[in-house]
Amino acid sequence: MDAADVGRDLEEVLLEAEDLDRRLGEMAAEIDADYADRDLLLVGVLKGAVMVMADLTRKLHTKVTMDWMAVSSYGSGTKSSGVVRILKDLDADIHGRHVLVVEDIVDSGLTLSWLLANLRSRGAASVEIAAMLRKPAAAKVDVDVRYVGFDIPNDFVVGYGLDFDELYRNLPFVAKLASRAYE
Ligand code: IMP
Repeated sequence: MDAADVGRDLEEVLLEAEDLDRRLGEMAAEIDADYADRDLLLVGVLKGAVMVMADLTRKLHTKVTMDWMAVSSYGSGTKSSGVVRILKDLDADIHGRHVLVVEDIVDSGLTLSWLLANLRSRGAASVEIAAMLRKPAAAKVDVDVRYVGFDIPNDFVVGYGLDFDELYRNLPFVAKLASRAYE
């Protein structure tokens, strides 16, 4: 899928596929260095983190295992509800494990701060976060994100895993959604 397939629903491309790829390479190098001698479990948050997880893990040299969680945060709108519910829990027991949560975007931070507390309460040896995107102006709670791809403006974006009403996850770039698409 590319911009021509979406037409007027996109306002502007913020990050091209090459920008995402380059930055993921840098993040992978940092993660490799930090977890050199440790057993690392990557936890992807469905569905948005699928692209980041797939591309980041293929750039890592560290041996990792992967698991997935699904939590609800957004409905079909564009604002965070702050209500978090586990839709799919981890398969693995994370007690004593080094966990790195892989996220598409940190917006209000509400979902991740809840998730961090939840994972830490299960006795993980460490829990850190890698997020492809972060909107600093949207933060409602302070979340310590160890690896950040890009800080972006407080606009609703789609692509590279991010959706609007389940659409546009398969765009290879990140673009600002035109307000006409949801108003
Ligand atoms: P938060 O709890 O507000 O930080 O948002 C968490 C989740 O909301 C993210 O993992 C995304 O799934 C979704 N989200 C936040 N901002 C956007 C956006 O700009 N586009 C698409 N989804 C978003």
